[in-house]
Amino acid sequence: MTQKKGNLFILSAPSGAGKSSLYKALLKADENVRISVSHTTRAPRTGEEHGREYFFVDVDSFLDMIAEDAFFEHAQVFDNFYGTSKQAIFDMLDQGLDVILEIDWQGAQQVRAQYPDAIGIFILPPSVEALGERLKGRGTDAEDVIARRMAKAVNEMSHYNEYEYVIINDDFDEAFQQLQAIFVAMRTRMPLIREIHTDLINDLLS
Ligand code: GDP
Ligand code: ADP
Ligand code: 5GP
Repeated sequence: MTQKKGNLFILSAPSGAGKSSLYKALLKADENVRISVSHTTRAPRTGEEHGREYFFVDVDSFLDMIAEDAFFEHAQVFDNFYGTSKQAIFDMLDQGLDVILEIDWQGAQQVRAQYPDAIGIFILPPSVEALGERLKGRGTDAEDVIARRMAKAVNEMSHYNEYEYVIINDDFDEAFQQLQAIFVAMRTRMPLIREIHTDLINDLLS
């Protein structure tokens, strides 16, 4: 795969660890960052909008998109399908924007296999208790849904060591600073600088 002008980031965490809160803060603070909008077959939660949080589609449409090879990666998470369409990311990377994929560990494995330059960041909660409290406090999910997400949390967290960076989201501001630092540092990676500043480098070396 040829070098893109932007970086591709994978952000994973058990449900409730704070990944949405963190990436939303980053989108506000850094105009070079975009979130990839996934397709899902789950029903929208209160306040979610088609095309903003997700493209909400039925199972048949999702299966059609798989058949058309429209997905960069897709996975079944809980009882629903989730997927990242190719269109959702490559135009932005070509424009030099950093793109965040908020996807689970199964999707992360598929992305890494196809795009080894992707930068993986895993968010951990400070404790199991805090994770449970945050899921309840968010007030978007029914009790049985929360119980199933908590039951899956240990399995999800056991994949933390497949990621290059791990942020423990205890104090939000501290976690947010760590996230910002990773994004800033990744913009100075050599292959990216060589791609963006080709003319400068040619000038300097001629
Ligand atoms: P979870 O992290 O697995 O619990 O699920 P979400 O990330 O979807 O949920 C966290 C909250 O962030 C929910 O209340 C969503 O409505 C919200 N959210 C806002 N924008 C986005 C987005 O672009 N993607 C996702 N995945 N969630 C979003
Ligand atoms: P995720 O997207 O990983 O499911 P959210 O970003 O929705 O998680 O966070 C879950 C809940 O926890 C939200 O209500 C959010 O406001 C809260 N939260 C996030 N980070 C922290 C933190 N560092 N301290 C306390 N509460 C937090
Ligand atoms: P939620 O339904 O709470 O929004 O998300 C549930 C889980 O699905 C989260 O772990 C989230 O990271 C994952 N997810 C969201 N979008 C995608 C996607 O496009 N691909 C994959 N593989 N997982 C996703």
